[in-house]
Amino acid sequence: MLTTNAYAVTSATGDLVPTTIERRDIGPHDVLIDIKFAGICQTDIHMVRGVWGPPSYPLTPGHEIAGIVAEVGSEVSKHKVGDRVGVGCMVNSCRECANCLKGEEQYCLKGIATYGAVDRDGSITQGGYSTHVVVTEDFVVTIPEGIGLDAAAPLLCAGITTYSPLRHWGAGPGKKVAVVGLGGLGHMAVKLAHAMGAEVTVLSQSLKKQEDGLRLGADAYYATSDPGTFEQLAGTFDLIVNTVSASIDISSYLQLLALDGTMVNVGVPTEPLPVNVFNLIIGRRSFAGSLIGGIRQTQEMLDFCAEHGIGAEIEVIPANKINDAYERVLASDVRYRFVIDTGTL
Ligand code: NAP
Ligand code: ZN
Ligand code: ZN
Repeated sequence: MLTTNAYAVTSATGDLVPTTIERRDIGPHDVLIDIKFAGICQTDIHMVRGVWGPPSYPLTPGHEIAGIVAEVGSEVSKHKVGDRVGVGCMVNSCRECANCLKGEEQYCLKGIATYGAVDRDGSITQGGYSTHVVVTEDFVVTIPEGIGLDAAAPLLCAGITTYSPLRHWGAGPGKKVAVVGLGGLGHMAVKLAHAMGAEVTVLSQSLKKQEDGLRLGADAYYATSDPGTFEQLAGTFDLIVNTVSASIDISSYLQLLALDGTMVNVGVPTEPLPVNVFNLIIGRRSFAGSLIGGIRQTQEMLDFCAEHGIGAEIEVIPANKINDAYERVLASDVRYRFVIDTGTL
């Protein structure tokens, strides 16, 4: 066992505090990663607060992990000591169900999440707000040279979560894509959809971040607080990627879709949302969801980012600012991802 420094919560209402956690001994197919940076995803906040049900406490969150391989097991062939690597939202899956065989391990019913899940040895997985992690080699991806490890960390969740639906629904030249919410996921969606050649529109609560949105690659930027936006853009988009976790009025957004358009939720509202089915019938529209992406596609996304010079826009923070960062994420005061320098743990 390896004892590592970490930050953890012990209850749904407590702050994250410094602690130590144990990592398993390195098995034949395991990789020990010296974590350098860990992104803060809004999912971490939902999880530690138990809004989707109480997790097992104490809990160390973090599923946007970037670091360097420190040691490898005897059978490891995919990675070697010194490699720049990343780990996202999952650390294993069954590897034999139909979804795993398709390379869509994120939809495996026996998948193991990076933190708060029961691991194969019966222990509870603990995430990336720590100095080291041991992960089986197949769930470790390579971070290409050219992307800083700090700017790469958020790609492991925010990047792949937006890349996957953009690819699935064919974002590219001639396609009009709208991104709802310019936060961690949203700003990645804008960069990626722009790099894929789509025409990109940001739908934000206000025009406060308009300049940033246009700089990140958006062609247009609208405030959803202005009712005129919904009149002006009716029937426009082939794809709407909704990154908002709040309960927004889905039916008004569905009206912004063109014929056969799709609105895909990656944001996870805590309450069920009413949908006016009439707005699906008119225009043969779809309302869909999407969960991160498979390991193969995560590597594809990282390579795409390196090729297009894309990293996340980040604010690097020391560990003692994690609780403040959570408050700022909840107040939509993030530009555009907090990343923990794990050297400060
Ligand atoms: P984030 O950085 O806080 O961004 C969310 C954005 O939503 C905010 O920046 C804000 O953008 C907008 N927003 C916030 N409150 C709103 C409200 N009341 N009404 C309308 N818009 C509002 O969060 P994130 O890390 O990107 O995560 C977003 C969601 O995705 C969370 O629910 C998270 O759990 C989920 N998630 C899902 C997956 C998946 O696989 N599906 C993966 C990762 C995360 P503006 O200021 O521009 O309006
Ligand atoms: Zn996440
Ligand atoms: Zn499976």
